[in-house]
Amino acid sequence: MPDRHASAARQVRKPALRPDSSNARANQASKPAKSRVSVLLPLPLDRAYDYLVPPELALAPGDFVRVPLGSRELLGVVWETGRDSGEIPPERLKPVAALCEVPPLPGVQRRFIEWLADYSMVPWGAVLRMALSARDALEPAKAITAYRLAANGMEVPGLRPGMRMTPARRRVLSVLSEGPARPASELAQAAGVGPSVVKGLAKLGAIEAVALPPPPAFEAPDWRRSGVALSPAQSEAATALRASTRQAAADGEGEGDEADLAGFSVTLLDGVTGAGKTEVYLEAGAEALEAGRQVLVLLPEIALTAQWLDRFRFRFGAAPAQWHSDLSQRQRRTVWRAVAEGGAQVVVGARSALFLPYRDLGLIVVDEEHDQAFKQEDGVIYHARDMAIVRARLGRIPTVLVSATPSLETVTNVKTGRFVRLHLPERHGAARMPRVELVDLRADPPPRMPGLGPAWLSGALRQALSETFEAGEQALLFLNRRGYAPLTLCRTCGHRLACHNCTAWLVAHRLAGRIQCHHCGHAARLPQACPECATEGSLAACGPGVERLLEEVTALFPNQRTRIVSSDTLTGPTAAAEFVRAMSEREIDLLIGTQVVAKGHHFPWLTLVGVVDGDLGLAGGDLRAAERTFQLLHQVAGRAGRAERPGRALVQTYDPEHPVMQAMATGDRDRFLETEAENRRAAGMPPFSRLAALILSCRDEGLLDRTCGALARAAPHGDQLEVLGPAPAPLAVLRRQHRRRFLLCAARSQAVQQVIAGWLGRVDLPAAVRLRIDIDPYSFL
Ligand code: ADP
Ligand code: ZN
Repeated sequence: MPDRHASAARQVRKPALRPDSSNARANQASKPAKSRVSVLLPLPLDRAYDYLVPPELALAPGDFVRVPLGSRELLGVVWETGRDSGEIPPERLKPVAALCEVPPLPGVQRRFIEWLADYSMVPWGAVLRMALSARDALEPAKAITAYRLAANGMEVPGLRPGMRMTPARRRVLSVLSEGPARPASELAQAAGVGPSVVKGLAKLGAIEAVALPPPPAFEAPDWRRSGVALSPAQSEAATALRASTRQAAADGEGEGDEADLAGFSVTLLDGVTGAGKTEVYLEAGAEALEAGRQVLVLLPEIALTAQWLDRFRFRFGAAPAQWHSDLSQRQRRTVWRAVAEGGAQVVVGARSALFLPYRDLGLIVVDEEHDQAFKQEDGVIYHARDMAIVRARLGRIPTVLVSATPSLETVTNVKTGRFVRLHLPERHGAARMPRVELVDLRADPPPRMPGLGPAWLSGALRQALSETFEAGEQALLFLNRRGYAPLTLCRTCGHRLACHNCTAWLVAHRLAGRIQCHHCGHAARLPQACPECATEGSLAACGPGVERLLEEVTALFPNQRTRIVSSDTLTGPTAAAEFVRAMSEREIDLLIGTQVVAKGHHFPWLTLVGVVDGDLGLAGGDLRAAERTFQLLHQVAGRAGRAERPGRALVQTYDPEHPVMQAMATGDRDRFLETEAENRRAAGMPPFSRLAALILSCRDEGLLDRTCGALARAAPHGDQLEVLGPAPAPLAVLRRQHRRRFLLCAARSQAVQQVIAGWLGRVDLPAAVRLRIDIDPYSFL
């Protein structure tokens, strides 16, 4: 997707109202407003285009239409009616080709698209494209052809003069005489005949085809069912959420008045892992459903949905609609359309579920709100948690942010009173929080194992694993590194296997027999000899990955059933569901996992969590490294002891005094967050300031540096803002593109979009240089 400056997005706004009297013919002059509409196309265009409305069409804003563009016909959305920019005379305008048979895109959703595009500094059409991601959803649903008996008044139903009645034919007719019309294949199957028999009867006119409407795609969740009996703390929180959801439904959308935010609220549902937060927010969901409104639940990982779906089904007796990148075109179409028509009442999905055309959204839940997976990093860059709040404000509805380790942004908003906080201080039922112990690797280095080279598990962790297995319980070893080893080097010449396209080492994946770049996806066969000096067998692995850990564990505990779980093995919802089943049914004793197993899962028999390298996330040290590491370690430790059996977590570290490690050991999350907030405030960093990153890339390094020089000279100044850079990005080359970064740091009162738009307006960017603007960056690579 091409990158655009703010000016691009802004031009679409409100074309000047200038009646074009010179061109107005008599019949048009009486109602010039109806003659043209502006249509936003799902393309990164600078503006909505004007089209003529053919007399037979009555169009309103939000209508989905087909319009000609050049030699193509495209889908678009009527954005405005009754405005005439006067730029193009009517005789040069092309007419709208057709109106699609689908409910119009509601006004709230259109305002949301505009808002997000302006904020992210992309054209409105680029965001509209995300909202139209199920292209064929706009075609009317295909009716199903079914067969019934032809009415003929004969004694034997369906029997025609001259028609030979075979036993097969008779069976078909008898099936139909007893039941409803059925599609041909189903009918043949029910009658135990081949498809040709049905075809033959239809040809003879004994049975006739009728069109049946397609069955509803989703069952209605039953909010009348009672859920689990809530604890007093849960009840209190649920009552508060129910009240705000009910109030918003009573207030309605409050269209128009920007200042009227009645119904809008943001609530942080803060509670330790296993506190039963899901049960609480499902109550708010029930309230929205009772009011006839839709519910959106955003989850950071589709791997989490399997268990979530079970819980939902248990509560409401039906499955919700799911939305994520793994759906087929056909599934996308079904969900998109059901959301537009109101047949999908609950959607659980990834961040892009925000762009579905909700008919009447009444509640948004963002589960694991602190999770960085909510930040979309390519294409249109946005943070789904923040945009969920924007969407809720536009629609005057409540948002619930859910986390055991809320982000500093959210905690700060609670402190300043912008968000409400509900608290669940304890685990549900008999479950207790796990005991966390630090293992100082300097004092307890992993004992080497004969024939295996370096080892990664300390004596303490090995001991804890043995005890767990002896008790018949399950353990998780957490190491956030896919593959076998993060670096491979030649013992003879020192050559390191690096990606040709990126500033990155290649990661060995021995199980797949490959070597991979985790940034550009480049993959090749694992070489036997050094590609530099050609020495056979001299390549050595450096550092651990989950596959290498498996070797050590297998040597130590040959009788335990071990499984690696990472994004390489959890390839989709089916694989995820299978993993959850195997773990729940205790077919696995030891799990070796990356961050995909850190969150959400609830395994009652999992009682030990070992963090192999607690310091891993702290290296590199970007703005949120400490916060993120704490969140991740806290989440992963929270997998232990989620039911009656008490849990423990061992965190291996070389730096036990680090604030993150201390927070893990003491469990004092709030103190950690306070210290973190003080540090950020002192450094003038978010959430106490605003950041925006400009990332420029180009194959031609010289041109890139000249362009960055020009940008640096034109950089904005002021006592409320500062521009850092240009600096080579940590990933200085990515996919063969050289990369440079600028970072704009501004006071919260500054509108950084305007500052950036002004800045870019002073510089001519060569077409070969690509610019990405990342407002509120989370990644600094
Ligand atoms: P959280 O999301 O806060 O980590 P969950 O909502 O996943 O916690 O709840 C943890 C476990 O406790 C789940 O298995 C859930 O079904 C169970 N649970 C929570 N609340 C109740 C309740 N009131 N009655 C029975 N089981 C509950
Ligand atoms: Zn690469």
